[in-house]
Amino acid sequence: MRFCADNMIARVTLELALRKEFDYLIPPGLAEQVDVGSRVQVPLGARKVMGCVTALAEESGQVRLKPILRVIGARTLVTPNILKLARWIGQYYCCAPETALKAVLPDAVRHEQAGWRERLFVRVLPFSGDLPRLPKRQKEIFHIIEERRELPLQDLLEIADTTAATIRRLEDKGLVAVAPQISERDPYALEQILPTQPLPLNTQQERALRAITAAMDAGHPGVGRPDTELRGQGAGGKGQRVPSVFLLHGVTGSGKTEVYLQALAHALEQGKGAIVLVPEISLTPQTVERFKARFSSGPLQTLVAVLHSHLSAGERHDEWHKIREGRARIAIGARSAIFAPVEPLGLVIVDEEHEPTYKQEEAPRYHARDVAIMRGQMEGATVVLGSATPSLESYYNCAKGKYALLELPERADDKKLPVVRVVDLRQTLRRGNMIPVFSPQLKEAIAQRLERKEQVILFLNRRGYSTSLQCPLCGFVAGCPNCSVSLTYHRQEQKLRCHVCGHSESVPVVCPNGNCRNPQIRYAGLGTQKVEDLLQKLFPYARTVRMDSDALKRKEDYRRILGDFRAGKIDILLGTQMIAKGLHFPNVTLVGIIYADLALHQPDFRAGERTFQLLTQVAGRAGRGDVEGEVFVQAFTPFHPAIQFARRHDYVGFYEQELEFRQPLKYPPWSRIALLTLKGRNEEKVKFSAEYLKRELEKVLTGMKDLVLAGPAAAPLLRAETYYRYQLMLRTPRMTVLSQKLAALAASLAFPDDVALTIDIDPADLG
Ligand code: ADP
Ligand code: ZN
Repeated sequence: MRFCADNMIARVTLELALRKEFDYLIPPGLAEQVDVGSRVQVPLGARKVMGCVTALAEESGQVRLKPILRVIGARTLVTPNILKLARWIGQYYCCAPETALKAVLPDAVRHEQAGWRERLFVRVLPFSGDLPRLPKRQKEIFHIIEERRELPLQDLLEIADTTAATIRRLEDKGLVAVAPQISERDPYALEQILPTQPLPLNTQQERALRAITAAMDAGHPGVGRPDTELRGQGAGGKGQRVPSVFLLHGVTGSGKTEVYLQALAHALEQGKGAIVLVPEISLTPQTVERFKARFSSGPLQTLVAVLHSHLSAGERHDEWHKIREGRARIAIGARSAIFAPVEPLGLVIVDEEHEPTYKQEEAPRYHARDVAIMRGQMEGATVVLGSATPSLESYYNCAKGKYALLELPERADDKKLPVVRVVDLRQTLRRGNMIPVFSPQLKEAIAQRLERKEQVILFLNRRGYSTSLQCPLCGFVAGCPNCSVSLTYHRQEQKLRCHVCGHSESVPVVCPNGNCRNPQIRYAGLGTQKVEDLLQKLFPYARTVRMDSDALKRKEDYRRILGDFRAGKIDILLGTQMIAKGLHFPNVTLVGIIYADLALHQPDFRAGERTFQLLTQVAGRAGRGDVEGEVFVQAFTPFHPAIQFARRHDYVGFYEQELEFRQPLKYPPWSRIALLTLKGRNEEKVKFSAEYLKRELEKVLTGMKDLVLAGPAAAPLLRAETYYRYQLMLRTPRMTVLSQKLAALAASLAFPDDVALTIDIDPADLG
């Protein structure tokens, strides 16, 4: 039993932006309930605010402590391990402790009231035909509910600023139901899952699995060390080996998933749990089922909890608690699943570790792969990063001996990698005078597949019909009023749209320039809608379906289209990056990439790497069945290394030349980056603030050698959503030191009220 005299004081992070922790007295009556991780209500001035206990203490440097008012919920939500991780995130990524804490606990769990099972939930009822006419307000509220599918009544009332009576009116019209949730919500309750058995592994898989399980058996005493250095990632340092991090480099279809599954089984045999991270876009029911099926019966049977943003609040809440209670030993999910309260943790898998979506774009701007490595280190868990196209950073860490490299160079099922043909679009251009969409070679190949009743995937990473509207007489280009980009023409809706902020306007019939009024305005550039149009003209009998975020109106559309494609009801599937990832269709024998160099000319040092990754991923969709696959890559710069190395399936070749290319300017992995962005509506003020920041940085960073300070410069996208943005970029091999200094400096500087500074450590996007 605990004597309350021991730990009379609780250190509390408040759910307010204060960048500071406060001490509170624990009243004797609450002593049994307050622990590290408890959620509490405390007084702050005249207010009552919520917070989380991050430590217990016997003494405090603060005076006149006030008592904790009450404890929310019976169980502590944040485990000490996760708290420690949150603290590291706050320090390394330069954000306030409460911001970091918010990230580690899903909203649905944090906002829970006592007695979660009896709460009233509002959910959408299925209806056929059009939405009945509703008053404007009711329609707005209905859309809020529809977007979330289901949410607690109380939350809805707050979000929509409405009353229960209004919701009842929607209920009377049969559009929604309000009911207490009693049973547990299982997002995959309707799926039928057939158990699967482990496959006999091939030699390479066997070797990889043995290395991983040996590391798991050896364990490592990472637990409890107050170590804040992210030694694993990035450059510099002394090339120290991080205890048991593996990079599994396996070509698409090499059977990485089977290795993951058997490593997971090993964790369960050890009595430990595991986390599997996959990019949001790959977190399809197909993927989830592969994991659930393996552990749905037998001695290692366990629930597999799924965490991702498309779940309703109620579902997310329940999935999280299944893990917290230990009923689910495996958690699978996108980025934030790295905070799943799995204990004890034996294994973390990060599939497609190179994916930029592992980086969170708002505060805390953490990178889930790097957090995974940190968490593995803190809790003594083995970490496996998997990819067909590893990030330069991770492969470099293998070269430095920090990670162990495991390779699966061949497809598991003896299928050959597809033949990749690069088509020089400049030649096609020379022959005709129009900008080509389909080269004669690709056209011919499509016709051939249609004849043989095989399937085709076509890929263009740009939606809409035309990329710009231009007047040939006066040169006017329709631009977004809020952003420094031109508007994209969407023909079906007859609208011009901004792909940055979503602004849309109707299409002008004459040139909007008052002095010009030319009625012959022209559309230039190419989007998926136009390709769809052309396909219908070229192959009128083919069943063509377009898949991009404009075409998918409802969530079910994605699954329905993929289902139809799998069932052979579609001949040509045309889409954006949505179709690039992880899909597996045996009857696809041709993949065409319309413009391979679209992504190459972005002002980002990773443009080449992203293009190489994309081409490799898309190409990996061809030839997954019995017939060998063929890939056509159309490009205006066919000799670019990213395209040529992708054509030869040569990752290492690409890695080596790319590493060399980044060396002179010390881009990662030669160093790590901190990107400082100032934004505001007044460009002069933003510019001025950036200059001021630079002077202050120079003062405090004089002592740091190996530091490169670049800028300030206008951001590649100078104006976005009405804000002007200027950036400073810092590159250093010692980021832990730099981020400490940045946090201190940011707290001490005063910018004009309408100018904001954001700090992004290890940015994925230089936008
Ligand atoms: P990756 O994740 O590396 O892209 P997958 O795990 O999806 O590859 O494997 C590709 C295909 O190979 C799958 O159909 C899988 O069932 C099969 N496969 C994997 N390992 C083996 C094996 N040892 N023997 C036979 N088939 C295998
Ligand atoms: Zn815009």
